[in-house]
Amino acid sequence: MFTSISGRSVLVTGGSKGIGKGLAAGFAGEGAQVLIVGRDREAGEQAAAELSGKGGGPVTFFQGDVSSAESCAAAVAAAEDQHGGLDVVCCNAGIFPSARLAEMTPEGLEEVLGINLKGTFFTVQAALPALERSGHGRVILTSSITGPITGFSGWTHYGASKAGQLGFMRSAALELAKRGITVNAVLPGNVMTEGLADMGADYIATMEASIPLKHLGSIEDIANAALFLATDEAAYITAQTIVIDGGQIVPESLEAMD
Ligand code: NAP
Repeated sequence: MFTSISGRSVLVTGGSKGIGKGLAAGFAGEGAQVLIVGRDREAGEQAAAELSGKGGGPVTFFQGDVSSAESCAAAVAAAEDQHGGLDVVCCNAGIFPSARLAEMTPEGLEEVLGINLKGTFFTVQAALPALERSGHGRVILTSSITGPITGFSGWTHYGASKAGQLGFMRSAALELAKRGITVNAVLPGNVMTEGLADMGADYIATMEASIPLKHLGSIEDIANAALFLATDEAAYITAQTIVIDGGQIVPESLEAMD
C-alpha cells in the first residue's frame, strides 16, 4: 500500500530505550538506515546491536545529549557520514521527572525544558541542510497528550515542554514547507516503556483503568504512526498531530466508560 522507505536515513534521539527504540525498530524493519542517539553508551550500543541483528536496515549508536546544540550537530554529521544523507529526524528524547510547582527548582525546570523542548530545536536546526537536500525531509516529534491536551499534577514543566513542541511544530512547518520538509507530531498516551515502568505498579494500574481500551500502548503503536508520517503517501500532511492513546483523552470520568 505504501511506497517503500527502505534505504532512507533516519535519526532517532532517545532511540536506546522505550518509544525511541520502538521507532528505531520500526524504521529498521522497513529497511531504513537508523542512527540512534542517547547519553548512556552501554545502553545505546546494546540497543543498536539488538536491532541490527533483526535483519532489517542497519542501526548504529551515537553518544550524545540533545540539550547541547554541539552534540546535536555532531549526531547529524554522524548520520550523514554513515548514511550519505538524512531524510527523517525523530525528536523523541525526553525525560519526565515529577515535581510539584511548590518544590520545583530552577535547575529541575531547566533540565526538562533543556532536553524535551530545546533539544527539539537543536536537533531540527542541526538537521535542516540535510533534510532539505533529501527532497523528502520529515521531522517527527514525540510530544504527549500531557500538556497539549491533558494535565497532570506534578508535570507542569513536562506538560509545558510537550505543548511547547507543538508550538514549535506549527511555525517550523510553515518555515520549512518551502524546503519540502514536513513537521508533524505523535502524541502518545501511556506507553509501556522503561521510563514509564519507573512510575510504579500503582500508577500503571490507575492508568489502565482510565483508558477505554483498558491497556497501555506499546512502542509499536507509536512507531506505526511515525512510520506513516515518514512515507511518501504522507507528503501532504504537515503541522499535524496523531493522538495514540487508546481513547484516554475522551472520557469525562470513569463512569463515562461504563
Ligand atoms: P524512556 O524509556 O525513559 O527513554 C528515554 C530515551 O531518551 C532514552 O533512550 C534516553 O537515553 C533518551 N534521553 C533522555 N535524555 C536524553 C538526552 N538529554 N539526550 C539524548 N537522549 C536522551 O522514555 P519513553 O517513555 O520512551 O519516552 C520517550 C519520549 O516519549 C519522551 O519524549 C516522552 O516525553 C514521550 N512520551 C512518553 C510516554 C510514555 O507513556 N512512555 C507518553 C507520552 C510521551 P539516555 O538516558 O541514555 O540518554
